[in-house]
Amino acid sequence: MDSWWELGEHSGYSGGVLETHRLTCAFCGEEGNFSLSHRETKKHASDKDKVLYFDTLRCGNCANFLMAFWSAGSALYGYHTVPWRIGEFKIPEAWPKEVSRFWQQAKRASARGDLDAAAVMARSAMQAALRASDASGKTLRHEIDNLAEKGLLPPVMKEWAHELRLLGNSSAHPDDDEPAPEKNDVTDVVLFLEQLLTYLFSLPDLIAQYRGRKNAPK
Ligand SMILES: [Zn+2]
Repeated sequence: MDSWWELGEHSGYSGGVLETHRLTCAFCGEEGNFSLSHRETKKHASDKDKVLYFDTLRCGNCANFLMAFWSAGSALYGYHTVPWRIGEFKIPEAWPKEVSRFWQQAKRASARGDLDAAAVMARSAMQAALRASDASGKTLRHEIDNLAEKGLLPPVMKEWAHELRLLGNSSAHPDDDEPAPEKNDVTDVVLFLEQLLTYLFSLPDLIAQYRGRKNAPK
């Protein structure tokens, strides 16, 4: 996205109106319980149909506020909200549930500084992601190689996947000779995991959205 005016133009959610059931209160965690407290809008100078919305939403549970900036395109809408829930990590909709569960735990553990737990959960998230992508093999090592052989993992991702596997293994199977994982390394593998999940799940979803737009009746 090169301009905020493109929000909701190329990717986002189906429909033309912000669905507040998608939103979570940053203060109490209540989901989808909002009423509109205030709205400002700004119309595009030349495109009459393009409007940016600046909504202040009130939580029906704790009465605190959430600001939602959103805009609809032709068939989709996009949004951003502040503030967000501290310590919560929003799961992209295209990611499989089991993968997301492990990823969330890896993020939480990493944020707490529980490095062994983060490394093990990141490894589990990767294994779940490979299996959701139909990787076969007796061990995680074989599953990574299998997906690479099928051409679904580029060489550089295969290498990184093995690094993540080894870091996760060290934390899962304690050994006196094995040093504790380093914060930088755990941060890096969690970052890699997110790139992998984006590549395996978000990218195909974006392509499907793109094709859907191309094939949609004009
Ligand atoms: Zn609330």
